[in-house]
Amino acid sequence: MSDLAEVRADLEWVMAYWPDLVDARLPMATKRPWRQTELTLEARAEQDAQARLERIDRTALSLGESPAPVDVVILSAVLDLLVRADDLAAAVAEHAGLPVLPAPRPGELDAWPYLAYAAAHLDEDLAEWAAPIARRMYEQTASALAMIHDGQTLDVVCPWCSTTAVWRVQELPGGIVAIVCHGECEPPLNEVGTWWGGRPVWPITDWERLAHHVQAAEKRSRETVARGKMAS
Ligand SMILES: [Zn+2]
Repeated sequence: MSDLAEVRADLEWVMAYWPDLVDARLPMATKRPWRQTELTLEARAEQDAQARLERIDRTALSLGESPAPVDVVILSAVLDLLVRADDLAAAVAEHAGLPVLPAPRPGELDAWPYLAYAAAHLDEDLAEWAAPIARRMYEQTASALAMIHDGQTLDVVCPWCSTTAVWRVQELPGGIVAIVCHGECEPPLNEVGTWWGGRPVWPITDWERLAHHVQAAEKRSRETVARGKMAS
């Protein structure tokens, strides 16, 4: 991948998981372990616009008016990412001779517009400079999500062992965050990131590819059921 493509991929990944990070800041927030990131940027923007507005209202309220306990580690990751996203978007705007987006107001925790702006207007000249910044944001997001989801069981059917709820998010030795299948599971070698204790393991970076497999398998099983109904 070129630097530019890599930076864009990292930024889009952070954008896709940003709502989870912000939701997880509140201890009572619903955890959504599974995000679909294959939507186009435009579709995602449209779909999330309303949700983001609602979330901003909520977060502004919780920061300003109530002493609700927040997960400090997650909150500081969110704030740090927001600052980086704002800085990156400003640098990209200045380089491209475009207007700089207004800085986020206090209590406004939405990095999405800055990430989208940076991803849209970044060019080859700036890509090499931006690559380590975007990578750091990606890693920071992944490690915060890992803290949120560690130990969680995913409510999906493993496409390879066809068993439900056998995928668990685990932090493995070396700080690798991964999905581990606890079923009787032997996926083809080209589909497995690595193995741990005889179990197939997929690092967090593989999650989107896994989501595609899960969705494809679900579609196939729906079609089989539909065909069965038609036949009977
Ligand atoms: Zn499995």
